[in-house]
Amino acid sequence: MKSNTVLSPVSPDALERFKKEKKIRSKERGVCACGHSMSRHYQSDYDGAWSCTPGKLYCACSSGRVVMVADDLRLFMYATTGVGAEHALGKGMLACIDKGVEFQWIVDGDIGECICQICKQVAVEPIPVSLDLFGEEYRPVNRSAKMDGVVCLGCYTERWGE
Ligand SMILES: [Zn+2]
Ligand SMILES: [Zn+2]
Ligand SMILES: [Zn+2]
Repeated sequence: MKSNTVLSPVSPDALERFKKEKKIRSKERGVCACGHSMSRHYQSDYDGAWSCTPGKLYCACSSGRVVMVADDLRLFMYATTGVGAEHALGKGMLACIDKGVEFQWIVDGDIGECICQICKQVAVEPIPVSLDLFGEEYRPVNRSAKMDGVVCLGCYTERWGE
């Protein structure tokens, strides 16, 4: 199945695809690296593509990767407007801390410590980032992007800090 085949709306194939296209809500619990609950993530039944629809917000997330579990997933409904505390995941963490709601990091499917994606060490001061491709290099952006990750403050500063 190819999702990028160009079809005219009057073609019978287009109608078939239109009827077949179904989004399946993720059954996974937890919070995705984009900062939104997995229950807001849908996978296309047609081509397997992920999408994230956090209420009226726009999110460019295309993967659906659990990085955290929290006692109240409704607190993860923010937009990414920067890195760290300005990232949707950072804002969700802040909402949890503010309300005394517990959250835990998920590492390889299990509860664990937050691991920096760059140095693979425990990130004492985790920095959630949205990354976009500039040429061949991924760089942090102040908006939602296709890729989200969490790095330690040291790696962030060393790689992207001023
Ligand atoms: Zn996501
Ligand atoms: Zn999202
Ligand atoms: Zn690091």
